[in-house]
Amino acid sequence: MAALTPSQIGQLAKKLNENLQTLLREVRSELENSGDQHRIDLLNNEPGDSGDESMANALADFNLAILDRHIDDMRDIEAALQRIKNGEYGVCTDCGVDVAFARLQAYPTAKRCIVCQEKRERDYAHEGQPKM
Ligand SMILES: [Zn+2]
Repeated sequence: MAALTPSQIGQLAKKLNENLQTLLREVRSELENSGDQHRIDLLNNEPGDSGDESMANALADFNLAILDRHIDDMRDIEAALQRIKNGEYGVCTDCGVDVAFARLQAYPTAKRCIVCQEKRERDYAHEGQPKM
């Protein structure tokens, strides 16, 4: 069964990359406010298109609470880009069905179909943060 077309995947990859750049800009401005020139210098080395270097991991080493939320978001995006690279993108990690393109347009980092996501949220609702 046909999942996403190459052009749909291209659109979603573009969106993921844009979201990643937006996060990096926010992180940079927070670091600039922190006045830590060493960290700012590190961030100014733009990650290449290869995606070999995880920016999220580099930032996690900074160990700044203010960045935690961004780092989680960046990890999700990097993981989604990795799934695209591996040809695993757009398939529900729980049940294996194709995730609807419309859902991916709204949530390009989605790992699960809407049915599994809702089930998961119900199952974990009483335990606080769901574990990914
Ligand atoms: Zn599913």
